[in-house]
Amino acid sequence: MASIRSVLVLGAGVFGLTAALELANRGYFVTVADPGPIPHPKAASNDVSRMVRMDYGGDGLYSSLSAEAIEGWHRWNARWARELYHEDGFLLLTSVPMAPGEFEQDSYSLLTSRGFSLEKLTPGELPRRAPQWDAGYYIDGYFNPRAGWAEAGAVTAQLLEDVSDSGVEIITGFSAVELLQQGNKVCGAVAADGARLWADWVVVAAGVWTTLLVPELADRMWPVGQPIFYFKPPDPENYRPPLFPPWGADIPRSGWYGFPANSDGVVKMANHGPGIRVPPDVERVIQGDEESVCRAFLSRSLPGLARLPVHESKLCLYSDTWDGDFWIDRDPEREGLMVATGGSGHAFKFTPVLGGLVADALEGIENPYSKRFAWRALGEVKHEEIRYTGE
Ligand SMILES: Cc1cc2nc3c(=O)[nH]c(=O)nc-3n(C[C@H](O)[C@H](O)[C@H](O)COP(=O)(O)OP(=O)(O)OC[C@H]3O[C@@H](n4cnc5c(N)ncnc54)[C@H](O)[C@@H]3O)c2cc1C
Repeated sequence: MASIRSVLVLGAGVFGLTAALELANRGYFVTVADPGPIPHPKAASNDVSRMVRMDYGGDGLYSSLSAEAIEGWHRWNARWARELYHEDGFLLLTSVPMAPGEFEQDSYSLLTSRGFSLEKLTPGELPRRAPQWDAGYYIDGYFNPRAGWAEAGAVTAQLLEDVSDSGVEIITGFSAVELLQQGNKVCGAVAADGARLWADWVVVAAGVWTTLLVPELADRMWPVGQPIFYFKPPDPENYRPPLFPPWGADIPRSGWYGFPANSDGVVKMANHGPGIRVPPDVERVIQGDEESVCRAFLSRSLPGLARLPVHESKLCLYSDTWDGDFWIDRDPEREGLMVATGGSGHAFKFTPVLGGLVADALEGIENPYSKRFAWRALGEVKHEEIRYTGE
């Protein structure tokens, strides 16, 4: 696509920043515009941690992409001043025997068939291996050592530095309210204060705010609020790997997953469940009975945390697509516009490979993932295999 010279990226989360980095590497003049500060306090890419896993049930495509991404995390760790990806593994626990057709067994079978060596829990092993967990309740599971977590906000801040070093212009204080169009061609964006930016192509990577700029997609992607809870146990050393790695406990049946204590001794857990549909600028506070649902889970799972006061809590927004797949494609109806978002609560782990996917889509290069992430019509609503549906 030799005629494209300049690209305006709206949004500096991981979709936007990695797109900017890759497009600059491919020779484009790139500008990134965001309301700022970056990382934005309300951005999905800004939190203490995000899970990195290849465990995707029987979904070989995401599993392959994740394996590529993990190699990318290791390359970044080697290059950055501080390691921001921590390969502490992923412990999947189940209160029922693992069975074919269920997320845990299907992940285990797929990954072992691909040569990854996972450690299946043997009966009675849990108290020795992960003593914080209620071994009377969790009877099965496995540990995947090729997994871990990334310091999300710090990664986003580091990417901003990398983007800046690659010659990309970064503009903060720019909150796009409308795309500029000449005939059928999108050619820039106008901000709330009237400022205008022009480019050959516009990549809208504004997370949950994307549909404010591309309203015709509002029937196919929407913001969904999810609760996050942070606890500060008096014995944080007991909540660190190897005895307390990142975990998912009955996750397709409960939604709960979490992380080891961070350097401040804070343990984080969150729900990968149905969530609640909210407007993008909703106040980021927990709604309804989420805390009592969380405490009920802790009582049957992690008794050492169940009675602690909540150290902090917040609502964080997924940009859910109707089918749980990312949205990385050019608008088939309008020239000059592409959308890169729809993380559906599982895109952060792919950060090292996202930019390549966006740049390929912009250049019209097919790759094994293009079709899955293509601009598509609404179908029967579905979700990622690991996601708890609330039923
Ligand atoms: C609670 C929660 C837990 C998650 N857990 C995991 C996990 O464990 N593992 C995993 O892989 N993924 C996880 N995810 C998903 C992952 O974090 C997201 O998919 C990813 O960070 C989304 O990045 P983004 O760039 O699309 O959006 P964002 O990070 O939200 O960035 C959007 C950017 O657009 C900017 N913007 C907004 N409006 C405008 C405008 N008008 N003009 C210009 N810019 C604008 C914002 O300021 C922001 O910087 C989780 C997400 C959430 C919310």
